[in-house]
Amino acid sequence: MRTKICLLYGGKSAEHQVSLQTARAVIEALDLEKFEIHPIYITTEGNWIKGAQIETKVDDVKNLQFSNGKSMAPNAMISLEDQGSGAYDVIFPLLHGPNGEDGTVQGMLEVLNLPYVGNGVLASSAGMDKVIMKNIFAQAGLAQVGYVSFIRSAWEKNREAAYSKVEETLGYPCFVKPANLGSSVGISKCSDREQLEMAFVEAFQFDRKIIVEEGVIAQEIEIGVLGNDDPQCSVAGEIVPKKEFYDYKAKYEDGNTALIIPADISNAKYEEMKEMAISAFQALDCSGLVRADFFLTKDGQVLINEVNTMPGFTPFSMFPLLWKHTGVEYPQLIEKLIELGKERFSEKQ
Ligand code: ADP
Ligand code: MG
Ligand code: MG
Repeated sequence: MRTKICLLYGGKSAEHQVSLQTARAVIEALDLEKFEIHPIYITTEGNWIKGAQIETKVDDVKNLQFSNGKSMAPNAMISLEDQGSGAYDVIFPLLHGPNGEDGTVQGMLEVLNLPYVGNGVLASSAGMDKVIMKNIFAQAGLAQVGYVSFIRSAWEKNREAAYSKVEETLGYPCFVKPANLGSSVGISKCSDREQLEMAFVEAFQFDRKIIVEEGVIAQEIEIGVLGNDDPQCSVAGEIVPKKEFYDYKAKYEDGNTALIIPADISNAKYEEMKEMAISAFQALDCSGLVRADFFLTKDGQVLINEVNTMPGFTPFSMFPLLWKHTGVEYPQLIEKLIELGKERFSEKQ
């Protein structure tokens, strides 16, 4: 019997288009002899639309958007009747950012008692909030850049105090980021007070909480982690942004950011990063997958930057490429993730 997979993609986030590309690639990679594919498309407005079972390759992502489909409430879409009725064996959320990677969709799937691929509620939500994530990393003893966080209402009451705190504790350059986003949205690098003030205004447009970090000059090295209770690491890769930093355009539009796999780092540094990647995975109680991102400074210091609980997942994204170089091809990677999702579900019961 074929495994029934429900693909959840699109989504109410800045990474909507990326998710569509991912869905298309995953559909293309899945072996239709082994899997039945049931698509659910989430529009940019947040409407959920169920498409017909997919039996052929999808040439154009537009065909995955079901513009004339009937939209329904999410819990009616993946309804309680699906429980035990065998409508789906596993849900595969191919969603990035808020309302997908942040534990909200995962929470709904938990309530409906359905198995799903990837991280659970806690890891997803803690991983989406850069302040909470860094607090947990600090508690786990992981080296990272200095940071401070601010809430919009406090900043509005006393902006000067906020800027002084940044200058006293971190200095310049520093990075200002919304706490709860990804894809470099709302992030600015600041070299002086004027830029800092603009960066606060910008970041607070996206979130009521922001994080300010000490800026470092470093190589950016990433490692893929795969597993549940016994996570494994991929080879390391380096991202070399052609711009000042790895911003949204560099990630999704320019296509000229170089990925170097395997990264040209010493074995000792690789081992150190692997250990930190596993510690980070366990500290956040992750399951399935994460991409752990590091800074490697000129003097050889390894600092963890973040983990991404649903990293870019097209065949040309870092995470799948890291696994390809480690010996796991894209279709196998997808099957492995599905297995891990089912395993996690059965261990919870
Ligand atoms: P996102 O979750 O949006 O990917 P990141 O924290 O990874 O956010 O920041 C995006 C990019 O900005 C990084 O890949 C890096 O190029 C740059 N960057 C972020 N923080 C720092 C920092 N503290 N020092 C130097 N560069 C940074
Ligand atoms: Mg991120
Ligand atoms: Mg990042």
